[in-house]
Amino acid sequence: MSPAILEPTANAPIDNQADTKRVLLLKPRGFCAGVVRAVDIVKIALETFGAPIYVRKEIVHNRYVVDDLRQKGAIFVNELDEVPEGKRVIYSAHGVSPAVRERAKERGLKVVDATCPLVTKVHIEAIKFAKQGYSLVLVGHRDHEEVEGTQGEAPDVTQVVSTPEEVEALIVPDPNKVAYLTQTTLSLDEAATMIDALKKKFPNIVGPHAQDICYATENRQTAVKNVAHGADIVLVVGSRNSSNSNRLVEVSQNLGTVSYLIDKAEDIKPEWLDSKNTVAITAGASAPEVLVQEVVEYLQNKGYNSVEEVEVMPENVRFGLPPEIVQAIAAAPKVDQQPTA
Ligand code: SF4
Repeated sequence: MSPAILEPTANAPIDNQADTKRVLLLKPRGFCAGVVRAVDIVKIALETFGAPIYVRKEIVHNRYVVDDLRQKGAIFVNELDEVPEGKRVIYSAHGVSPAVRERAKERGLKVVDATCPLVTKVHIEAIKFAKQGYSLVLVGHRDHEEVEGTQGEAPDVTQVVSTPEEVEALIVPDPNKVAYLTQTTLSLDEAATMIDALKKKFPNIVGPHAQDICYATENRQTAVKNVAHGADIVLVVGSRNSSNSNRLVEVSQNLGTVSYLIDKAEDIKPEWLDSKNTVAITAGASAPEVLVQEVVEYLQNKGYNSVEEVEVMPENVRFGLPPEIVQAIAAAPKVDQQPTA
């Protein structure tokens, strides 16, 4: 399938065209700076060091991205014990705990760290609060790799909570010495509810200087909030295990607009589109644009001939590569350039 060609319409107003079958393509959507960086790290590592390159866990939570990198020579493992001693391993964008770093040292692995800098920021906050003697409350989903990594920075003093009921049940040594952190990909509204509950339970609780929910999570949720009211359905391109993608579905549903999470165009059930004239499309921070374009093409083939890009806010964030990769690029042999006429 060739991607549909779009004419972006920056800051397009959402016209009330009730009878026209149309697509609203939300912006920003899809890849965030942390995902771009993590995927680039694996690709550059494969080009520079050669296959195979081991990657601990999914580099980002997207099936298409993982399958593509696997085809290029990446080997995804669940734990470091699956990596042969002395080989090179990449940590995923979601980060790892100090125990994992220690295990890598014990096995003599060469590590490339693709942890998103915004996840690292939360790790540093956890270390800082723990050193200052705080009990830590981490708001997040306890089975998520990012939460496992952050909790691992100070496991003896960190408790993970996901619901206001769990906040209510918290027991800490000193209620006046409690700090909270959050996962980077929570729903803004859910996080606000949880922080309110924490402040009620521990009136002297302290938190991070700036919120831990990252710019990409916030921007994609804000875009959905701005557009969902003018859509009959919101399709979110992203994988089941992608936290921020699931949150986008919830944001839309909480506003009363039906929404589905789809990995790819083939996941769309035709009946979802019955009597739906306006379809809004967004994508989680780990979903590549090629999949969004295939969804657009699918809808165009179903008669949704008007495609408007609705830019809710600009987004121009980029992160630098880690030193291991920069050094490897610098040390790679130069490719001879042919003189141009
Ligand atoms: S979603 Fe946010 S925290 Fe996660 S990789 Fe992207 S920028 Fe980093």
